Amino acid sequence: MKVRESRMRRVLAVSGAMAAMVLMMCAMLPCCGQNAPKLKQVSNLSSTNLKPPSDAIILFDGKNTSALVMQGSKAPCHWKVLGDGAMQVFRGNVITKQEFMDCQLHVEFKIPYMPDARGQGRGNSGVYLQGSYEVQVLDSYGLDSKDNDCGGIYKVSRPMVNACLKPGEWQSYDILFFAPRFDKSGKLVQKARLSVLQNGVWIQQNLEVPGPTTAAMPRDDLSKPGPIMLQDHGNPVEYRNIWIRPLGPTTH
Ligand code: MG
Repeated sequence: MKVRESRMRRVLAVSGAMAAMVLMMCAMLPCCGQNAPKLKQVSNLSSTNLKPPSDAIILFDGKNTSALVMQGSKAPCHWKVLGDGAMQVFRGNVITKQEFMDCQLHVEFKIPYMPDARGQGRGNSGVYLQGSYEVQVLDSYGLDSKDNDCGGIYKVSRPMVNACLKPGEWQSYDILFFAPRFDKSGKLVQKARLSVLQNGVWIQQNLEVPGPTTAAMPRDDLSKPGPIMLQDHGNPVEYRNIWIRPLGPTTH
């Protein structure tokens, strides 16, 4: 009887140690750690074709690109305006002529189906606030999204959930942006902040962004208003129904 009891105790001790080790290893892995729960794909999503409120500035209505110019050259926007109310990325980033500080931005986008492409080459574009802070556009449907996936603030923050639709379906971003603030000496006193809804689902919560993200447009003075920029990353991403409500000072 004693032999059986001591064998049982030994088995329990070994199992306990193994369980503790598995838990410890699991906590060390980014996919299992408490701070990085696996993201579930949200379904039943929609919020495209949202009508602009009466006080919104229309940046693209499906036909007219006069609110946009090419980034760098400031030449008229030459992205392809398609017959169905969309325009398609074509040879260069576009920026708005008007510049903004704090704002509410609505953008609809459609990612092409690119089954042979991988990772960052799969339907990549991006929406930059103040020309500096990118909300990533990418085919990330069904993925355990990272900070460089769709809905991520590029390399700063992954979305709280994966609210992506499949490539070929229209999606939307509704972004609330608060520009960074600087004191008279030029010292940053309040970082840029972003809240984002993707397809009507909250994916970024008042997120502080330390500085311009990768491939931001060059800007001399980050304290000044900046344009909205849409990125050309070499993929034929489409955009439509883009409008903005400035919440702070703007220039014309
Ligand atoms: Mg991008």
